[in-house]
Amino acid sequence: MPITVVGSVAFDTVETPAGRRERCLAGAATYFSLAASFFSPVRVIAVVGEDFGPTEESVFAARNVDIRGIERAPGKSFFWQGSYLDNLNEAKTLQTDLNVFAGFEPKIPAAYADSDFLFLANIDPVLQRRVREATPQAKLVAGDTMNYWINDHKPALLEVLKGLDILLINDTETRMLAGNNNLVQAARAVMAMGPRMLVVKHGEYGATLFYGSTSTTHRTECFKTPAFPLEQVTDPTGAGDSFAGGFFGYLASQKDLDFATFRRAMFYGSVMGSFTVERFGTDRLQALTRDEIEARFNQFRELTHLD
Ligand code: AMP
Repeated sequence: MPITVVGSVAFDTVETPAGRRERCLAGAATYFSLAASFFSPVRVIAVVGEDFGPTEESVFAARNVDIRGIERAPGKSFFWQGSYLDNLNEAKTLQTDLNVFAGFEPKIPAAYADSDFLFLANIDPVLQRRVREATPQAKLVAGDTMNYWINDHKPALLEVLKGLDILLINDTETRMLAGNNNLVQAARAVMAMGPRMLVVKHGEYGATLFYGSTSTTHRTECFKTPAFPLEQVTDPTGAGDSFAGGFFGYLASQKDLDFATFRRAMFYGSVMGSFTVERFGTDRLQALTRDEIEARFNQFRELTHLD
């Protein structure tokens, strides 16, 4: 089943203990769509500037990602600069230039109308909501956000959360959004804001899927996946979006969305996140094969199997 994703398509400058990369193709929707494309067809909605040329286009084309919904506008693409020198698990934002995203009016191409799966990747919640409203046919809607939108744009974000089935955020963001430091209580509070499932990412410690909390039972169930133990993490940027791409891409490729499918999706999410961080930017995703994905999925099985 095809997935439509809206989110940032950007250029990033990052510094990590492994080195520095200037203006590499990045953005939440970019990482998400490349990762998800190994499992399902992906269609992107975004806006880019005049600095987005044939080289960048070819990265999407090589993975058959549909970019007819990426609008070209006069000016520069979204730019983000971050540093992981202090903490490899959490980026310190040094600069964010919205550029062409500042005046973006998302338009959904007619060819995207049959997407049953919608992913609202990290971007202004006002844009996420517009895309949600313009895609009423979507049957499963997931989304992501970040500290910036939680802190400074909370009312708009709360509107987006009402329309989500699944929210994927990291543990700091979960605590921040709920205003509660206990992760289980925070997860329950976030699910009460709309999403019936919450995936909390813990960086190098894996991820937890929370579900099943209802106002009558007050029981919160969870399922955990580890992160793959890597000897070298080169650039953590995009790990969360690649996790989301593996997770949601796998779900969209399956007929039955039962709980066993969600558990496997958590593992595919971890697999895709672990590949992304091995190299700078999208380099590792561009060189990846489906066989490598399956091999690492099986390593995950061994890593977590008890009997
Ligand atoms: P993550 O998976 O959380 O590491 O996401 C990294 C990507 O998010 C980077 O490639 C950035 O271009 C993008 N990004 C950073 N800040 C923002 C923002 N405020 N809105 C949308 N995208 C962002």
